[in-house]
Amino acid sequence: MPNGSSSRRGSQRTAAPTPYPQSVQRAIDELAAMPGIGRRTAERLAFYLLKGKPEVAQSLASAIGEMRTKASPCTICGNLADEPLCRVCRAAVPLPGGEAPARDASVVLVVEQPRDLFAIEASGAFKGVYHVLMGRLSPLEGVGPGDINIADLLARVDDPKRNAGGLPVREVILGLNPTLEGDATGLYLAEELGKRGVSVSRLARGLPSGGQIDWASKAVLEDAIEGRRGF
Ligand SMILES: [Zn+2]
Repeated sequence: MPNGSSSRRGSQRTAAPTPYPQSVQRAIDELAAMPGIGRRTAERLAFYLLKGKPEVAQSLASAIGEMRTKASPCTICGNLADEPLCRVCRAAVPLPGGEAPARDASVVLVVEQPRDLFAIEASGAFKGVYHVLMGRLSPLEGVGPGDINIADLLARVDDPKRNAGGLPVREVILGLNPTLEGDATGLYLAEELGKRGVSVSRLARGLPSGGQIDWASKAVLEDAIEGRRGF
Protein backbone atom coordinates (compact mmCIF):
# COMPACT_ATOMS: atom_id res chain seq x y z
CA MET A 1 0.00 0.00 0.00
CA PRO A 2 1.48 3.38 -0.93
CA ASN A 3 2.50 5.21 2.20
CA GLY A 4 -0.01 7.74 3.37
CA SER A 5 -2.69 6.92 0.81
CA SER A 6 -5.27 5.69 3.30
CA SER A 7 -4.07 7.39 6.47
CA ARG A 8 -3.92 11.12 7.09
CA ARG A 9 -6.47 11.80 4.42
CA GLY A 10 -6.88 15.33 5.65
CA SER A 11 -3.22 16.19 5.17
CA GLN A 12 -2.33 18.15 2.06
CA ARG A 13 1.35 17.67 2.88
CA THR A 14 1.54 13.93 2.13
CA ALA A 15 -0.42 14.32 -1.13
CA ALA A 16 2.05 16.87 -2.52
CA PRO A 17 4.81 15.61 -4.84
CA THR A 18 7.99 14.84 -2.93
CA PRO A 19 10.85 17.36 -3.21
CA TYR A 20 13.41 14.70 -2.28
CA PRO A 21 15.45 12.38 -4.47
CA GLN A 22 14.04 8.86 -4.45
CA SER A 23 16.79 7.43 -2.17
CA VAL A 24 16.23 10.09 0.48
CA GLN A 25 12.46 9.77 0.20
CA ARG A 26 12.74 6.01 0.75
CA ALA A 27 14.73 6.48 3.96
CA ILE A 28 12.21 9.04 5.20
CA ASP A 29 9.31 6.69 4.40
CA GLU A 30 10.99 3.80 6.27
CA LEU A 31 11.64 5.97 9.32
CA ALA A 32 8.13 7.47 9.26
CA ALA A 33 6.67 3.94 9.32
CA MET A 34 8.18 3.42 12.83
CA PRO A 35 5.83 3.76 15.82
CA GLY A 36 5.91 7.20 17.40
CA ILE A 37 7.86 8.81 14.55
CA GLY A 38 6.00 11.45 12.59
CA ARG A 39 6.88 12.82 9.17
CA ARG A 40 8.84 15.78 10.58
CA THR A 41 10.94 13.60 12.87
CA ALA A 42 11.56 11.13 10.04
CA GLU A 43 12.89 13.97 7.88
CA ARG A 44 15.08 15.24 10.72
CA LEU A 45 16.54 11.78 11.32
CA ALA A 46 17.14 11.17 7.62
CA PHE A 47 19.03 14.48 7.27
CA TYR A 48 21.01 13.79 10.42
CA LEU A 49 22.12 10.47 8.94
CA LEU A 50 22.80 12.07 5.58
CA LYS A 51 24.84 15.01 6.86
CA GLY A 52 26.81 13.20 9.57
CA LYS A 53 29.87 11.00 9.10
CA PRO A 54 29.17 7.93 6.95
CA GLU A 55 30.18 5.71 9.91
CA VAL A 56 27.16 6.92 11.91
CA ALA A 57 24.66 5.67 9.34
CA GLN A 58 26.67 2.49 8.72
CA SER A 59 26.86 1.74 12.43
CA LEU A 60 23.07 2.13 12.79
CA ALA A 61 22.44 -0.10 9.78
CA SER A 62 24.79 -2.80 11.11
CA ALA A 63 23.30 -2.59 14.65
CA ILE A 64 19.83 -3.22 13.23
CA GLY A 65 21.18 -6.09 11.10
CA GLU A 66 23.01 -7.66 14.05
CA MET A 67 19.96 -7.37 16.30
CA ARG A 68 17.77 -9.07 13.73
CA THR A 69 20.29 -11.88 13.22
CA LYS A 70 21.24 -12.51 16.85
CA ALA A 71 18.32 -11.62 19.11
CA SER A 72 15.77 -14.39 19.42
CA PRO A 73 13.46 -15.72 22.16
CA CYS A 74 15.08 -17.63 25.04
CA THR A 75 14.30 -21.33 24.48
CA ILE A 76 12.96 -21.64 28.04
CA CYS A 77 11.16 -18.40 28.90
CA GLY A 78 10.71 -16.40 25.68
CA ASN A 79 12.75 -13.42 26.93
CA LEU A 80 14.98 -11.73 24.36
CA ALA A 81 18.43 -13.31 24.18
CA ASP A 82 21.56 -13.34 22.02
CA GLU A 83 22.19 -16.96 23.08
CA PRO A 84 19.85 -20.00 23.38
CA LEU A 85 19.23 -19.13 27.07
CA CYS A 86 18.60 -15.58 28.31
CA ARG A 87 20.66 -13.97 31.08
CA VAL A 88 18.01 -14.73 33.73
CA CYS A 89 17.62 -18.42 32.85
CA ARG A 90 21.42 -18.86 32.69
CA ALA A 91 21.66 -17.44 36.23
CA ALA A 92 19.23 -20.14 37.44
CA VAL A 93 21.38 -23.06 36.26
CA PRO A 94 23.10 -24.79 39.23
CA LEU A 95 26.81 -24.01 39.41
CA PRO A 96 29.49 -26.69 39.36
CA GLY A 97 30.46 -27.62 42.92
CA GLY A 98 26.88 -27.54 44.21
CA GLU A 99 26.80 -23.79 44.93
CA ALA A 100 23.24 -22.36 44.82
CA PRO A 101 22.51 -20.39 41.63
CA ALA A 102 21.72 -16.67 41.84
CA ARG A 103 18.11 -17.16 40.64
CA ASP A 104 15.41 -19.52 41.90
CA ALA A 105 13.90 -21.37 38.93
CA SER A 106 11.10 -22.85 41.08
CA VAL A 107 9.32 -19.47 41.10
CA VAL A 108 8.16 -18.26 37.65
CA LEU A 109 6.81 -14.74 37.10
CA VAL A 110 4.61 -14.52 34.01
CA VAL A 111 4.65 -11.24 32.06
CA GLU A 112 3.12 -10.11 28.78
CA GLN A 113 6.13 -8.52 27.07
CA PRO A 114 9.92 -8.37 27.43
CA ARG A 115 9.60 -4.68 28.43
CA ASP A 116 7.62 -5.75 31.55
CA LEU A 117 10.45 -8.12 32.42
CA PHE A 118 13.04 -5.36 31.97
CA ALA A 119 11.05 -3.02 34.26
CA ILE A 120 10.85 -5.66 37.01
CA GLU A 121 14.55 -6.55 36.56
CA ALA A 122 15.46 -2.87 36.92
CA SER A 123 13.66 -2.84 40.30
CA GLY A 124 15.87 -5.72 41.49
CA ALA A 125 12.90 -6.96 43.55
CA PHE A 126 12.62 -10.43 42.03
CA LYS A 127 15.09 -13.32 42.17
CA GLY A 128 13.04 -16.02 40.48
CA VAL A 129 12.72 -16.59 36.73
CA TYR A 130 10.24 -15.37 34.10
CA HIS A 131 7.93 -16.53 31.39
CA VAL A 132 7.16 -14.04 28.60
CA LEU A 133 3.79 -14.63 26.89
CA MET A 134 4.46 -12.21 24.00
CA GLY A 135 0.92 -10.87 24.25
CA ARG A 136 -2.31 -11.48 26.13
CA LEU A 137 -5.60 -13.18 25.41
CA SER A 138 -8.01 -10.94 23.55
CA PRO A 139 -11.13 -12.64 22.18
CA LEU A 140 -12.22 -9.36 20.58
CA GLU A 141 -8.98 -9.19 18.56
CA GLY A 142 -9.03 -12.93 17.90
CA VAL A 143 -6.02 -13.70 20.14
CA GLY A 144 -6.56 -17.14 21.69
CA PRO A 145 -4.41 -19.39 23.92
CA GLY A 146 -2.68 -20.91 20.87
CA ASP A 147 -1.54 -17.48 19.66
CA ILE A 148 0.68 -16.59 22.64
CA ASN A 149 3.43 -18.44 24.50
CA ILE A 150 1.16 -20.40 26.89
CA ALA A 151 1.94 -23.98 25.77
CA ASP A 152 5.63 -23.55 26.71
CA LEU A 153 4.67 -22.30 30.19
CA LEU A 154 2.47 -25.34 30.82
CA ALA A 155 5.22 -27.60 29.44
CA ARG A 156 7.69 -26.09 31.95
CA VAL A 157 5.26 -26.89 34.76
CA ASP A 158 4.54 -30.41 33.46
CA ASP A 159 8.18 -31.32 32.84
CA PRO A 160 10.99 -29.94 35.05
CA LYS A 161 13.48 -30.72 32.26
CA ARG A 162 11.88 -27.88 30.29
CA ASN A 163 12.50 -25.42 33.16
CA ALA A 164 15.71 -23.50 33.88
CA GLY A 165 18.16 -25.66 35.83
CA GLY A 166 15.83 -28.67 35.44
CA LEU A 167 13.97 -27.61 38.62
CA PRO A 168 10.26 -28.33 39.23
CA VAL A 169 8.08 -25.17 39.18
CA ARG A 170 6.67 -24.59 42.68
CA GLU A 171 4.94 -21.22 42.26
CA VAL A 172 3.72 -19.17 39.30
CA ILE A 173 3.20 -15.44 39.87
CA LEU A 174 0.95 -13.72 37.35
CA GLY A 175 2.47 -10.32 36.55
CA LEU A 176 -0.04 -9.29 33.91
CA ASN A 177 -1.13 -5.75 33.22
CA PRO A 178 -4.33 -4.70 35.03
CA THR A 179 -6.46 -4.47 31.90
CA LEU A 180 -9.50 -6.50 30.80
CA GLU A 181 -7.26 -8.64 28.59
CA GLY A 182 -4.65 -9.07 31.33
CA ASP A 183 -7.34 -10.24 33.75
CA ALA A 184 -8.82 -12.65 31.19
CA THR A 185 -5.34 -14.08 30.57
CA GLY A 186 -4.77 -14.43 34.32
CA LEU A 187 -8.05 -16.31 34.83
CA TYR A 188 -7.26 -18.71 32.00
CA LEU A 189 -3.73 -19.39 33.30
CA ALA A 190 -4.89 -19.77 36.92
CA GLU A 191 -7.35 -22.46 35.81
CA GLU A 192 -4.81 -24.35 33.68
CA LEU A 193 -2.10 -24.11 36.33
CA GLY A 194 -4.54 -25.00 39.13
CA LYS A 195 -5.25 -28.31 37.39
CA ARG A 196 -1.55 -29.05 37.63
CA GLY A 197 -1.37 -28.46 41.37
CA VAL A 198 1.11 -25.58 41.18
CA SER A 199 0.67 -22.59 43.53
CA VAL A 200 -0.63 -19.55 41.63
CA SER A 201 -0.40 -15.97 42.92
CA ARG A 202 -0.66 -12.55 41.36
CA LEU A 203 1.01 -9.23 41.92
CA ALA A 204 -0.63 -7.12 44.62
CA ARG A 205 -2.81 -4.38 43.21
CA GLY A 206 -0.33 -1.61 43.78
CA LEU A 207 -0.16 -0.88 40.08
CA PRO A 208 -1.96 2.16 38.69
CA SER A 209 -5.42 1.18 37.47
CA GLY A 210 -5.40 0.61 33.74
CA GLY A 211 -1.67 1.32 33.82
CA GLN A 212 1.14 -0.70 32.42
CA ILE A 213 3.75 -2.60 34.40
CA ASP A 214 6.54 -1.00 32.42
CA TRP A 215 5.45 2.45 33.61
CA ALA A 216 5.41 1.54 37.30
CA SER A 217 8.04 2.89 39.66
CA LYS A 218 10.61 0.73 41.43
CA ALA A 219 8.88 1.05 44.83
CA VAL A 220 5.48 0.14 43.36
CA LEU A 221 6.95 -2.96 41.71
CA GLU A 222 8.69 -4.03 44.93
CA ASP A 223 5.40 -3.74 46.86
CA ALA A 224 3.51 -5.57 44.12
CA ILE A 225 5.90 -8.53 44.25
CA GLU A 226 6.28 -8.63 48.06
CA GLY A 227 2.52 -8.37 48.61
CA ARG A 228 1.49 -10.95 46.00
CA ARG A 229 -1.53 -13.03 46.94
CA GLY A 230 -2.97 -16.41 46.07
CA PHE A 231 -5.22 -16.57 43.03
ZN1 LIG B 1 15.05 -17.27 29.66
